[in-house]
Amino acid sequence: MRTYHQIKDLRAHLRVSWQSGRVIGFVPTMGALHDGHRSLIRKARTECDEVVVSIFVNPTQFGPQEDYSKYPRTLEADSRMAQELGVDAMFAPPAEVMYPFGPDATVEVGPLTTHWEGACRPGHFRGVTTVCAKLFCIIQPRYAYFGMKDYQQYRVVERMVADLHMGLSVVPVPTVREADGLAMSSRNAYLSPEHRATATCLHQALNKAAALHSAGERDAAILREAMHARLSGERDVEIVYADVADAQTLEPVSAVTGPAVALGAIRLGSTRLIDNIVLP
Ligand code: AMP
Repeated sequence: MRTYHQIKDLRAHLRVSWQSGRVIGFVPTMGALHDGHRSLIRKARTECDEVVVSIFVNPTQFGPQEDYSKYPRTLEADSRMAQELGVDAMFAPPAEVMYPFGPDATVEVGPLTTHWEGACRPGHFRGVTTVCAKLFCIIQPRYAYFGMKDYQQYRVVERMVADLHMGLSVVPVPTVREADGLAMSSRNAYLSPEHRATATCLHQALNKAAALHSAGERDAAILREAMHARLSGERDVEIVYADVADAQTLEPVSAVTGPAVALGAIRLGSTRLIDNIVLP
């Protein structure tokens, strides 16, 4: 596996694949790779001829008070994992390579970004869609793999790709969890042992909503209350949101009449965690 830091070098590597029609699968990440990323890479490896993984802590998707500077950066360990998984090329550009004009041209998706993460983190999705558009232009993959752990992000990128006719498919990959249900995340490394033990409450709250839903409950207010009830007694937990949305539009719903998703975000001390569960 080769690691590239410059666009022209990566493109020289990819030229053969482009010309010979090899199917390129792309897994964009911010690094600090864990088993969630591993599952995306494995899927790409089984479905594609050429697998490219990017490692880029994208500054434009972090708010000014967020954790950009302390975000874990573990390029050597990430390279080892990628190599073991049979990745063909890793792309780890410096910020000035990705943003030669600073944050100038941007890509923005409409109403899907209004609620949830979009409401709590102004500009976050503009950063995500802009960097994904740049990476898709550079790599020109046939498939791009996204985790359902970041459900809204998956839907937003899928919409961008469809609406801008980018000519690739966004492939969703199920959330990988720790044994106690906590969704794997690079940010879990921030948690103290006490907070790590508490963190499983988010998954439990979402599961509560899913259990009520599968027992026939369709009143979203009741599902929301059940999630809030599970979270509210927990020490150091601040509920950012815990609610039910339409699985396609991500609009909040009052009655669950079709495919929906229960979404939650909590603050646990200074760590922000998100998770979701699809209500079929
Ligand atoms: P990140 O490095 O956190 O930006 O994530 C890169 C990709 O990995 C995104 O598509 C995430 O949704 C996905 N991902 C992160 N954590 C998980 C997980 N626990 N299970 C599945 N996919 C994940």
